[in-house]
Amino acid sequence: MPNKNSHAYHNPIRTCVVCKKKVDQKGLLNFFIMNGGIVFDSLRIVAVRKNYLCPSQECFTGLDKWRKRYQKRHKAH
Ligand SMILES: [Zn+2]
Repeated sequence: MPNKNSHAYHNPIRTCVVCKKKVDQKGLLNFFIMNGGIVFDSLRIVAVRKNYLCPSQECFTGLDKWRKRYQKRHKAH
């Protein structure tokens, strides 16, 4: 990914899928979708495309809705 600011490389910014807030990757939980379920990969051992979520009650609550939208979107293709 092109990035003119080389310092940003050490501090990757990710977007929470629920609230769309941009946060330092370290401040977010990462997960992926497997068999229609959400799997948190806190050890970052699985090499698949990750999604990110704030560790907050609000975003956990919104995650189920997001997952349903995600699955609808991916079934359409
Ligand atoms: Zn969030």
